[in-house]
Amino acid sequence: MNRRKFISLSGIAGITYLYPQALTGAGLFQPANEDFIVTVNGAIGINQLGVTLAHEHIITDFAGAEKNLIPIYTDNEAIRKLLPYLLELKKTGVSSIVECTPAYIGRNVILLKALSLASGLHMVTNTGYYAAVGHKYLPKHAFIERAEQIAQRWLSEWQNGIDGTGIRPGFIKLGVDAGPLKEIEKKMIRAAAITHAGSGLKIFIHTGDAAAAREEAAILVKEGIGHEAMIWVHAQNDVSGDTQIELAKKGCWISLDGVNEQASSLDKYTGFITRMKREGLLHRLLISHDDGFSVEKAGNLSVFNPYQNGNTYPYSSLFTKLKSALLQKGITQQEFDNIITKNPAEALKIKICKAAKG
Ligand SMILES: [Zn+2]
Repeated sequence: MNRRKFISLSGIAGITYLYPQALTGAGLFQPANEDFIVTVNGAIGINQLGVTLAHEHIITDFAGAEKNLIPIYTDNEAIRKLLPYLLELKKTGVSSIVECTPAYIGRNVILLKALSLASGLHMVTNTGYYAAVGHKYLPKHAFIERAEQIAQRWLSEWQNGIDGTGIRPGFIKLGVDAGPLKEIEKKMIRAAAITHAGSGLKIFIHTGDAAAAREEAAILVKEGIGHEAMIWVHAQNDVSGDTQIELAKKGCWISLDGVNEQASSLDKYTGFITRMKREGLLHRLLISHDDGFSVEKAGNLSVFNPYQNGNTYPYSSLFTKLKSALLQKGITQQEFDNIITKNPAEALKIKICKAAKG
């Protein structure tokens, strides 16, 4: 019997989308009538995500779109470099990483799957394009095609898997510079709206400033997409924090994802987060480091350089530094646990609304 499932489209009433066949893999959770999250190993239940770093990178290649069409390193080289960090993370209680490297900046889903299986960490990858940094990371077709055509490419990754791997995206990742948004950035947001409507995938947007974030939210609403589908990536760029509060009240997710070990950073983040608490908005908050490695070639050797965005050791300051600073300022252990466990699961959650036999 051919069972088919349909998922709901958050923000768009009355439309259903055909649930992809064979979404599960590696013997993991088979969604029945439950909401789910899509990892590189297939779908899992939202309670399986556990402690999650909501915005990190494994390997990025900053050469520019279509410069290196295949990775300039071998997966074995990357695994040798990265796996020790991931095994350590797993030991400290982290269960999942949301890997935010888009296509054309080094997304390598085969590597993510290998690292996920070797480390025991869930990893979630993405579809979508990154239009920030002066469009350096957009492929040629992004300039030519309409939003509907671009969305079709992203939906194809959702339906069929990425580049023939069978590995599916668990969210949409975009990037835009500071506002006012340029036409091509707006087109990417409209393409994301169409993709969300056809898949339920949430929309993570790397955003230059508060003005850009407001514009993104307005475009999504105009396209019929609810605020809860938008994750404002790098909301810390809103220095006053006022727009964080404004958009969180509307339902947007606020991703404060540049946590590092410097005292000035810890002060800034505790300030933002305690304000979110006073406003009753901690349930809209994501925190992470935006750590990772960029790859370069040095002769025949692949060199993986840590970003070192204020962190001497990647992926850890949230637990070794920020947590105690937050607890001292009145954030409770339960609230901290919710921010790093419940919130990422809610942000990534894809809803099933009904199942039908066909
Ligand atoms: Zn990032």
